Amino acid sequence: MEAGKSNGEALAKVLWYYNLIPDTASLTQKIVCPFHNDVNPSMIVNFEDGSWFCFGCNLAGDAKKFVKLMEQKYHKLNDLQAYQKYLQILKSDKCSGIKLDIHQKSQKPLQRDLYNQAYDYYHGLKKVNWRDSGDPEVIAAKEYMTKRGFFPKTLDKCRAKVTYNHNYGLIFPMMDNGKFKGWVCRTMIKSVEERRKYLYNEGFSRATTLVGDYGSKDYVIVVEGYMDRLKLVQCGEDNVVAILGWKMSPQQIQKLKDKGITKVISALDNDECGRKGTRFLEKHFSVTRWCYLKGIKDPGDMTQETFDKMHTKTMTKFTRK
Ligand SMILES: [Zn+2]
Repeated sequence: MEAGKSNGEALAKVLWYYNLIPDTASLTQKIVCPFHNDVNPSMIVNFEDGSWFCFGCNLAGDAKKFVKLMEQKYHKLNDLQAYQKYLQILKSDKCSGIKLDIHQKSQKPLQRDLYNQAYDYYHGLKKVNWRDSGDPEVIAAKEYMTKRGFFPKTLDKCRAKVTYNHNYGLIFPMMDNGKFKGWVCRTMIKSVEERRKYLYNEGFSRATTLVGDYGSKDYVIVVEGYMDRLKLVQCGEDNVVAILGWKMSPQQIQKLKDKGITKVISALDNDECGRKGTRFLEKHFSVTRWCYLKGIKDPGDMTQETFDKMHTKTMTKFTRK
């Protein structure tokens, strides 16, 4: 605890020295990262243990490393010079007033604050016209999505935006029957994708969210991922929800039941998890399995042509049931 406190205080002093924090009132803060071309605060700093991490450029460390990287980047200092600078900062007049409030327990931000943060972050980003934006970030993201079979008009429709964040450049709002529930970012970088393809906002609750519109009919099509749903919507099917996993949560089940939905079409992935998830759905709904064509692993793989075939087949099976 003592070591944690002094580490934390060192980091607070360092950030204060570089004018990166307004105060030390909160033991965890989000700041604009000075190590990459950051526009929105991507770096999380923690004064409890003195650690920092940037989800934009993936750099992480403690107070000492922060100074080292700063001085390397902006003043071309070597390691020893940077270490001396670090010691100077800790003793500097500028930082002498920095004390951490040790009575402040590790305060978890309230769920409501996290929600508001997520709301502000997404809505604060520039609105994108996917059809004819000249912004290089938008053009790159559009190219990426086009390769995956998505059209600009679909990106317009779901109100996707670009984050200007290197690792997670694309952002989608998650709308549950019209209500904003959070956001999900998609990486367009292969090495990042191998570690984590999607980034959800802090505080996002998968279990209580169904992405999509439901309740206008007594059935709904269920898919796993956000992109799976987007593909079905693009192909012309609006009555579809993404459960963001393969197993529907009790709350998600209740939300469908509250809307009078008794039947589902399971377009969960065409693999073992998808089949397991489908068997689970059968405990709660009258289920029709989506008629996957051979070789198609999930809705993301569908083209308009294969969708049409599978949709017709599935709906025939569904209405006969
Ligand atoms: Zn960064």
